[in-house]
Amino acid sequence: MSLERYRRKRNPERTPEPFGEDRPAPGRQNRGLFVVHKHAARALHYDFRLEMEGVLRSWAVPKGPSMDPGKKRLAVMVEDHPIEYGDFEGTIAPGNYGAGSVIVWDRGEYRSVDPIGDAAAGVRAGKLDFELFGQKLRGGFTLVRTRGMRSGSTARPAWLLIKKRDRYASEQDVLAIYPRSVLSGLTVEEIGSAGRYEKGCR
Ligand code: MN
Repeated sequence: MSLERYRRKRNPERTPEPFGEDRPAPGRQNRGLFVVHKHAARALHYDFRLEMEGVLRSWAVPKGPSMDPGKKRLAVMVEDHPIEYGDFEGTIAPGNYGAGSVIVWDRGEYRSVDPIGDAAAGVRAGKLDFELFGQKLRGGFTLVRTRGMRSGSTARPAWLLIKKRDRYASEQDVLAIYPRSVLSGLTVEEIGSAGRYEKGCR
């Protein structure tokens, strides 16, 4: 059960985060949802999520994604999240897992390029080339698993998220230029001070 780890870390009575439904694996799909959350937790980071096998497969990216092919970004694989998490913005109260504020920094569709149309197989093999059709992130990217593990309370596989060289590649700092949510238009600081949250279904 893919969402078991997700649910074990959270108390549905204390967090506004969605718990999701168990779905049968939808099988191969050429396009799916991608979401990048900006998460002002104990340490500010971005969470990069790709829909596959009925869940959002997720990586925590401490420095956030880059449009510069010269900047390889560490991406630590974390627990699968429910598809509904793609709509989630808000504040997770202190004392809960991931406490802090969250915005949907970017969202759109992605397409698995290699392996063609089967992102899950690429993730299992440790390398995935894909194309993003977001509002901020566009063009080709690679996720590749390294030999290393990120230490901590539980060792987690370390990957690298790398922009491909294409016409969308840029040295501009997209994180700084476009800090706002693509859903609410708020920054992560604003959504935190508003104390609001939203959740819903795609
Ligand atoms: Mn996070």
